[in-house]
Amino acid sequence: MPTVISHPVVALGLFPWLRRELGRPAVLVIGMLLTVLPDLDIVGFKLGIPYGHLLGHRGLSHSLVFALVVGGLAALAVARAYRLRPAVLWLYFFLCLASHGLLDALTGGGLGIAFFSPFSNERYFFDVRPLRVSAIGLSDFLASRWSAVLASELKWVWLPALALGAAGAVAGRLARRVADRAQGVAPEGISDRQ
Ligand SMILES: [Zn+2]
Repeated sequence: MPTVISHPVVALGLFPWLRRELGRPAVLVIGMLLTVLPDLDIVGFKLGIPYGHLLGHRGLSHSLVFALVVGGLAALAVARAYRLRPAVLWLYFFLCLASHGLLDALTGGGLGIAFFSPFSNERYFFDVRPLRVSAIGLSDFLASRWSAVLASELKWVWLPALALGAAGAVAGRLARRVADRAQGVAPEGISDRQ
């Protein structure tokens, strides 16, 4: 897996694209937390659940069904709390959750990702895997070649995600400018006709 600090960067990159709809910083924070949620399945190691099991690491919690269901439940709860549109929240939370497995599938270690669990427990990697896998646990991480791990994440996660976020911010600003201009022109058009 990529490190716990790199998964949330994807939520940061996606947020500006939906900012008008999602509005509140709290939604961004929840999205960032959801990007790391799938890795709670590592408690399975302590419980004796085998890696390759349906409930093992990179199993059901890393699947698209999990992203849809958990993203939907989170969207309903947050939509009610902040009076936002649940469909847009669902899309954002789904993308945050699903991004976790996609990034894991770009790493070169461990077993693959059970994207289609619970219907199939087959594990998948992408053919191209530029991300170095991070050790689980802080002590193992610090004992590993962590600087190489962080360098690969900077290049393949942070930079693309921040570029995506910057593009979203620019697109949002342009959309607002177009909307403001349209609103400014409309009253004159109406008065000309009158
Ligand atoms: Zn993971």
